[in-house]
Amino acid sequence: MGYELRRWFDIYEYYELLESLSSPYATVSNLTPSKRLPIFSIHLTDHTVDDSKKQNVLITAMHAGVEYSGSNTVISLMKWLLEESEEAKCHFRHFNIFLIPIPNPYIYEKGDITLQHKSELSNDPYFEPWTLNGVTHKELNWEAAAIQEFIDRHVPDLLIDCHGVFFKGQNMIENTGISVNGLSRPHNMEFTRILNEAAGKNGYHVDDLDLRQKILSVDKSLAGRKYSTCAYGINPCVYAYHNYHTLSSVMEIGNEKSGLIRLKKALELGLRHWDGEKNLGYPVNRLFGEGFYSFHPLSDSYTLMREERTDIWNETDNISMATVHPQFPGNEGFLLLDDNLHESVRYEISYGLDVRTFSEYLKDPVLKEYMVRRFENRYMSFNLAKNPKMYSKPFTIGIRIPFRNACILGVNINGKSVGIDSYVHRQYDWFSIVFVNFRNGFSSTTLVDIQYMAKTDDKISD
Ligand SMILES: [Zn+2]
Repeated sequence: MGYELRRWFDIYEYYELLESLSSPYATVSNLTPSKRLPIFSIHLTDHTVDDSKKQNVLITAMHAGVEYSGSNTVISLMKWLLEESEEAKCHFRHFNIFLIPIPNPYIYEKGDITLQHKSELSNDPYFEPWTLNGVTHKELNWEAAAIQEFIDRHVPDLLIDCHGVFFKGQNMIENTGISVNGLSRPHNMEFTRILNEAAGKNGYHVDDLDLRQKILSVDKSLAGRKYSTCAYGINPCVYAYHNYHTLSSVMEIGNEKSGLIRLKKALELGLRHWDGEKNLGYPVNRLFGEGFYSFHPLSDSYTLMREERTDIWNETDNISMATVHPQFPGNEGFLLLDDNLHESVRYEISYGLDVRTFSEYLKDPVLKEYMVRRFENRYMSFNLAKNPKMYSKPFTIGIRIPFRNACILGVNINGKSVGIDSYVHRQYDWFSIVFVNFRNGFSSTTLVDIQYMAKTDDKISD
């Protein structure tokens, strides 16, 4: 084609580079079936720190293949980490960092841009074989299958897939969270904004295409130029988000330095306490949390959090719940419904159900009396599951109080006060959240109600 390839190494030089690594922090593994060119993962961590204290970060370059600036950037992150600065060592203590710079080695080595969307035996390993249930035709799509297996095994908290350009000197519009095929941005937009800001401060441009990205079509038949957020298909980022609530982002990298700045910032952001989260770390453990309530893992170990998160994330559609409304300062009520109660109220709710009528369905006389006494003259607002189930595993419910400085006076489960070892109260920029723990899930209708004092220094008036 007349242009020089952008890659920093040919595939054999890259293999030699990995062979030459001799850091106590680095472990190199071959993910490839025999007889194929190896796909290596590089695992970077401090083995003296227990895994329960670490989040999992996976960085790939699925179109490398020939999008060499993606691979180069992942390799430059590896090199920067292996300089073992204090900052890098801090990351090794907090993360298992997994890097897969070249997931498509045959096409990487061929260096033919007409093969950009090919793998050794099949088509595009970034896009073509992926479904929400995983990779199809795994023998043909062995590159993508290796990545899926890796995602399933390690359940990344953060996944960034680096794309980019082919030739030396080649330019492109860089962006975070978007690939040409549609939406591959993380579910937390603030994360994207901060990465882009870091690149911008260093003089690089980054486009986030927000005007279009805000219009999210969920119906695939609508995919087109009106709805640039609607992916025409599934890719590894969508797969990881859908199955594991991973914070997943694609990055288009026109300049390796800009890519490295964004990846370094992405690591830093795992050391933050994000808005609405119970624990420090990437904003991935607040599930189904849009308004008044949210589900969270109960455990504080990151290993268990990943397991609990995956389970709750895949069950949220099956849990029936309700809130007491209208809301007034001073108390909040939230209910988990058992299957029978769910069926009883399903036909009652089209015009709203007042608390007294609703209480007639409650079997427990103590709870019935308490509901009426506490919430007389209020109504129930239901969010019913299609296939209601009770949930028998550990979880935490976050109940959001619309006052930043609320002082908690009491937390009750089914009318009984619970001790401070059963809940945590945290204040955030705009509100507070009470996290109430359920160590064994719930097996019958359960009311959580909270009394609080809304402090007036929030200067809110009617
Ligand atoms: Zn690409």
